[in-house]
Amino acid sequence: MTNPSISRETLAAADAADPLAGFRDEFDLPENILYFDGNSLGPLPRGTAARMEQAITQEWGRDLIGSWNSHDWINLPSRVGDKIARCIGAAPGEVVAADSTSVNLFKLLMAALRLRPGRKTILTETGNFPTDLYVAQGVCDLLGDGHELRRVPGDEITASIDDDVALVLVTHVNYQTGAMHSLVDITQAAHDAGALMLWDLSHSAGAVPVVLNLVDADFAVGCGYKFLNGGPGAPAFLFVASRLQDDIAPPLSGWMGHEAPFEFADDYRPAPGITRNLCGTPSVLGLTALEAGLDLFLTADMMEIRRKSLALADQFMTLVATRCAGQGIVIATPRADTRRGSQVSLRHENAYPIMQALIARGVIGDFRAPDTLRFGMAPLYVRHVDIWDAVEHLRDIIETGDWDRPEFHARSAVT
Ligand SMILES: *Cc1c(COP(=O)(O)O)cnc(C)c1O
Repeated sequence: MTNPSISRETLAAADAADPLAGFRDEFDLPENILYFDGNSLGPLPRGTAARMEQAITQEWGRDLIGSWNSHDWINLPSRVGDKIARCIGAAPGEVVAADSTSVNLFKLLMAALRLRPGRKTILTETGNFPTDLYVAQGVCDLLGDGHELRRVPGDEITASIDDDVALVLVTHVNYQTGAMHSLVDITQAAHDAGALMLWDLSHSAGAVPVVLNLVDADFAVGCGYKFLNGGPGAPAFLFVASRLQDDIAPPLSGWMGHEAPFEFADDYRPAPGITRNLCGTPSVLGLTALEAGLDLFLTADMMEIRRKSLALADQFMTLVATRCAGQGIVIATPRADTRRGSQVSLRHENAYPIMQALIARGVIGDFRAPDTLRFGMAPLYVRHVDIWDAVEHLRDIIETGDWDRPEFHARSAVT
């Protein structure tokens, strides 16, 4: 909904009435930074440093190997997984935190194809996140049995699920545009055609309400370092619906997924339940930081988060459309609430240097090739007035040509 009377004062009033406003102090954000990149790397929660200090000096430093038992390190993947389950509409025992999203994609793609022998197609969206496409391509090559990855535009997915499709692999919220698919419609269409459904929730977990069990989803993966604030390279997660768990043949049949790892038996026997999807020794420090992020996140109300996220993005799009009119900006994110996640994407031919100029002024978003500026809306620390200030910087940078300074054209390895 467009609000023509939006001003810095109305936004400041919205902050004063914001039930989530207190969460900003729970993050260790530098002064004078407007952080719009929580969709790529969530900031540091204040509680995390103390928790890590304890894990390093006390648990590792003093208690040493005994900590596997005394501090329950061994159960971190399932304990953290149960906390993630609460963020994505899953039940306890349906999620583990481990490995990276890419590795978890490999595990679940392989497991799913084995559950649909005879069907050869993985169906996905054109322009899905690269690692999803690359891992699926690798799985097809590895199987060497005529499997193929078929890509179709997002709005053709449901109509394209035929009886050769073993698995539908869709990212719920698109990383480029912020467009969101319907969990229920695509899951239902996959099941109606006898296919399985794997959701990538990397841009959903902690950002939008997700109801995996309500829609009867089969599989899901997602990131810990984005909206869940788990820290750089945080462990990822995977979900398998409980009704499928004991049918899974894990392709990475490591000892941590064994029924009794400390029996040291010669033969592999998968653990019952979700645990069989673990492979090697858990990343204890990474899981500790992720758990600290989750413990903070779980004190917030997901419906309040969604409401504020929609409002922030709406205000941002409205201000860009009015205050930056005629400057060559195209809003790439769908306007309808039900069709967008928790980010706003803008397209501009000079997107890269414009983003560098914004970052130089402390407005941190990111750039995605070839021409997208992304702004993540994380309601736990983004304020309504930040929206006003960010758009004013954007307007000024384009109007004055500030973006065209040579230093803003230099490309770094990570964009
Ligand atoms: C961020 C992201 C990933 C990241 O995968 P990693 O293995 O953690 O590098 C995967 N899929 C999607 C859709 C993402 O947005």
